[in-house]
Amino acid sequence: MKHVVVIGAGIGGLSAAAKLSGGPTKVTLLERATSLGGKLRAIETPIGPADIGPTVVTMPDILEEIFRACGAELHDHLTMTPLPVLARHFWDDGTMLDLTTHRDQNYAAIGGLFGNQAADEFMRFDAFSKQLFECFEQSVIRASSMSPIKLAQAMIGQPSLLTRLLPNQSLAGLLLRGFKEPRLRQLFGRYATYVGGIPQHAPAILALIWHAEAKGVFRIEGGMHQIATSLAKLLEKRRVDIQTGEDVTRIRQTKDGRFEITSNNRLINADGIVFNGDPRALEEGLLDEDQPRLFKPNATTPRSLSAIVHGFSATARGVSLSHHNVFFSNIPGEEFQALDQQKTPKSANLYLCASDHEDGQGDVTKSRFEIIRNAPAMSHLARDEERQTWNRLTLQRLGQFGLSFDQEPTAESITMPQDLARDFPASQGAIYGRSPHGMMASFRRPVARCKIPGLYLCGGGIHPGAGVPMAAQSGFHAAEAAQKDLDLT
Ligand SMILES: Cc1cc2nc3c(=O)[nH]c(=O)nc-3n(C[C@H](O)[C@H](O)[C@H](O)COP(=O)(O)OP(=O)(O)OC[C@H]3O[C@@H](n4cnc5c(N)ncnc54)[C@H](O)[C@@H]3O)c2cc1C
Repeated sequence: MKHVVVIGAGIGGLSAAAKLSGGPTKVTLLERATSLGGKLRAIETPIGPADIGPTVVTMPDILEEIFRACGAELHDHLTMTPLPVLARHFWDDGTMLDLTTHRDQNYAAIGGLFGNQAADEFMRFDAFSKQLFECFEQSVIRASSMSPIKLAQAMIGQPSLLTRLLPNQSLAGLLLRGFKEPRLRQLFGRYATYVGGIPQHAPAILALIWHAEAKGVFRIEGGMHQIATSLAKLLEKRRVDIQTGEDVTRIRQTKDGRFEITSNNRLINADGIVFNGDPRALEEGLLDEDQPRLFKPNATTPRSLSAIVHGFSATARGVSLSHHNVFFSNIPGEEFQALDQQKTPKSANLYLCASDHEDGQGDVTKSRFEIIRNAPAMSHLARDEERQTWNRLTLQRLGQFGLSFDQEPTAESITMPQDLARDFPASQGAIYGRSPHGMMASFRRPVARCKIPGLYLCGGGIHPGAGVPMAAQSGFHAAEAAQKDLDLT
């Protein structure tokens, strides 16, 4: 029986283990943390664990596919429901905009707030985003690798896409041409941060993220970390040997093409490895020094954004919250200017997930909350005392919208970039791997196969990139490549 070791139990590692499980292969999953899920993680609160990682579920069919790979149906294990409001958006002047999956409702809401021209501009942007998504879904998002040829083939017969994307168009540039209303530019520009970029440098192709949301955003009852908990149970049933607290410190390929893995000072032998950590770790000492250099430096740098994350439970007062809420900065542009200079912005768009809210009507009784504030990854690793400052600034800013909590999050409970850097080795605190900046970013990321036969890569730093569905997709690609090359089926 061949033995494949999956290193890391983020969503990429879990989906790879799911695909490899239940067949004629011994599968071991080694995770350095004490729980599974990687960034799909939670912090304890008096009313149960509150997410401090991803909150937005899009492309749910990819999650369903992981469960099917375990011989199960997602809906038998998790309650996943579509949200009536994709996100509620707040500005200082009292403007509040709900966006939904219905184009006509969005048209009416935008027209009502910003006028007919803005509504028409939205419809054009919405159509363009859909066109982009449909053009690139199979050729890029779900494909196992990226090439200029594949991209060109996908765009054949779509000259309007070419003209709008190719002149090195940034997302900010596209929005500047497409929207007269600055608040809509602010709203749709924020999508660059979903993959760790800023709109001024992110390519216009990222406008497709809007359509990924407009197709439907889902909520997992109990929180996103439940995905990992459910998958862990299924993987155990499928005889995957799950070992937590296992920090892999060395990977070495022996002359016979097998592997020696050092974890907690003991050696584990394997025929193949799926590595779900940050690919930078393979360049930063995880691979034995006699192994080849795997990537060009621009495959993993520059780094994407990090974040300051608050997870807590409380009763919110003063603002009618939806499940996903965005409180926009009153100084548009300042946030991205600061991030561009590797500084943590004082004025920032704040994202707030009220994870126990579904319809978001009125003041709500106790709920779990997650607040995310963008921060740069590496050059500014905030000192611990800065936790106090950021906690205060975030709560003060929400207070300016009239939002308060009966129990405020404590500074100690905040996750800072340096915490992410510690918990995700070699990541430098970047949440989304390599930065998505520039037209060529998608071509630069490593893919499942690398220079070492038998070593496969998956996760947010690998093609097709960050986000739960993408990282899960990369796990499938890694498992499929291992099955094929190592003759596992
Ligand atoms: C605050 C926040 C908000 C986000 N919001 C969203 C969102 O709304 N929607 C969305 O789709 N995505 C979101 N994301 C991004 C998404 O969470 C990630 O892209 C995705 O979860 C990354 O999965 P991964 O497979 O790369 O694994 P990771 O989550 O990075 O996990 C990797 C695992 O490998 C383990 N590991 C690493 N090195 C070793 C080693 N040497 N030995 C053993 N184990 C090791 C780590 O401990 C970790 O458990 C968010 C992320 C964060 C942090």
